[in-house]
Amino acid sequence: MQLAFDYDLFVIGAGSGGTRAARMSAALGARVAIAEERYLGGTCVNVGCIPKKLFVYGSHYAEDFEDGAAYGWTTSGESFQWPTLRDNKTREIERLNNVYQGLLEGPGAEIIRERAILSDTHTVSVGGEMVTAENILIATGSRPSVPPFPGDDLVITSDDAFYLETFPERVVIIGGGYIAVEFAGIFNGLGAETTLLYRGPLFLRGFDEGIREFVAQEMRGKGVGLRFDTHVASVERVAGGLAVRTRAGDVLETDVVLCATGRSPNTVGLDLDAAGVEPGRSGEVRVDSRYRTSTPNIHAIGDVIGRVQLTPVAIAEGMCIAYNLFGGEDRQVEYDDIPTAIFCQPNIGTVGPTEERARERFPALKAYESTFRPLKHTLTGRDERTMMKLLVDGDSDRVVAAHMVGPEAGEIIQGLGVAIKAGATKADFDRTIGIHPTAAEEFVTMREARA
Ligand code: NDP
Repeated sequence: MQLAFDYDLFVIGAGSGGTRAARMSAALGARVAIAEERYLGGTCVNVGCIPKKLFVYGSHYAEDFEDGAAYGWTTSGESFQWPTLRDNKTREIERLNNVYQGLLEGPGAEIIRERAILSDTHTVSVGGEMVTAENILIATGSRPSVPPFPGDDLVITSDDAFYLETFPERVVIIGGGYIAVEFAGIFNGLGAETTLLYRGPLFLRGFDEGIREFVAQEMRGKGVGLRFDTHVASVERVAGGLAVRTRAGDVLETDVVLCATGRSPNTVGLDLDAAGVEPGRSGEVRVDSRYRTSTPNIHAIGDVIGRVQLTPVAIAEGMCIAYNLFGGEDRQVEYDDIPTAIFCQPNIGTVGPTEERARERFPALKAYESTFRPLKHTLTGRDERTMMKLLVDGDSDRVVAAHMVGPEAGEIIQGLGVAIKAGATKADFDRTIGIHPTAAEEFVTMREARA
């Protein structure tokens, strides 16, 4: 029998979402090819979540060495070697690239290390050849976007921050989202004089206001310079570094300017037009609830669809593609109550709506809040504090959100995310015995709602 197409599924982009869709589809028996012109694992593995978290670990040692003294440890002559951290990180990333190769090849997906361009609804041009597929999946991710301003060519993005030749003494970060605050903690912890410039009155727009204020206070306490309501007018080269000029006329001298002002969908050069795939208003690939583009046999997932730019979401979307196309299912991702963490220092972990939004949705909302000094710091004297907030719908008694700032907030909130998804009530939290002594036990011992 002559098969109509070369492949059942052709995936463009081997990041978190594309890789998951490709390997699950192959495991379900589909004939799959996946094209990747850069690195296997995409942003998360190469220039995102994984190397970032390794840098966060690295940057915490300065405090750990200081704190050790109160516990009887004497340290002396500790110094930081940037090339060691950078290169050890790169070696781990290369190991992960190979792991991804194995994950794809194991179930039989064919990896094509070339750029793929859409040619028509069933045809992709890849490495000078035309290949056909019954289904095509666009999983090309996103890339850092830098707004235009004089001197914008002098700034770096998070992509570059992972490979800096030398570690800077001074860093200015533009932006107030995930990447800006995470890198502010990294650079500050590793010893750079760090200043974050954000255009609005308080960074981390979209997160719970109490959490944002608390994090700002904690970051300032650790020595990060935070300047809000600050717009960058220009960056120029000066003797000994760069000068960032704000619209208010202030000038900050620095060695590196990191622009962390969001990420744009990667569709340039894909030739969406050739396959009749319509983009949305921000250049993202527009999809319906089953990730179908305007050309129904072409799907898209992950950062490129411009919904939620998080690795676990792209992976969940990739699972839907595989099971819907080749497993006879009809899955879709639930976008409500996605737990997330920001690995600033201290970490933020959050699931469910902000208090502001929850008050609109649940008129009888009860807020439980606690701030305290972590037990570890009763000896060190460090004035870092932890904050926890639990939001409860007074009508149904359901816990609708949990927010936290403190060590390992992401680890703690992941578990609470399950409880909230499962519809746990405050009474369920109250009858859960705490694990003592932990910070997490505070979430099951909060008794008095605040006004
Ligand atoms: P975000 O969208 O989180 O933040 C962008 C920031 O840049 C905002 O503060 C925004 O301000 C500001 N900004 C946007 N445009 C301009 C401009 N023209 N001039 C000045 N400031 C501007 O993007 P990030 O780049 O931080 O991260 C991209 C995405 O990657 C995140 O949204 C997240 O989904 C994901 N990510 C997840 C991580 C995690 O899970 N821990 C870690 C890192 C990234 P304003 O708020 O005023 O619009």
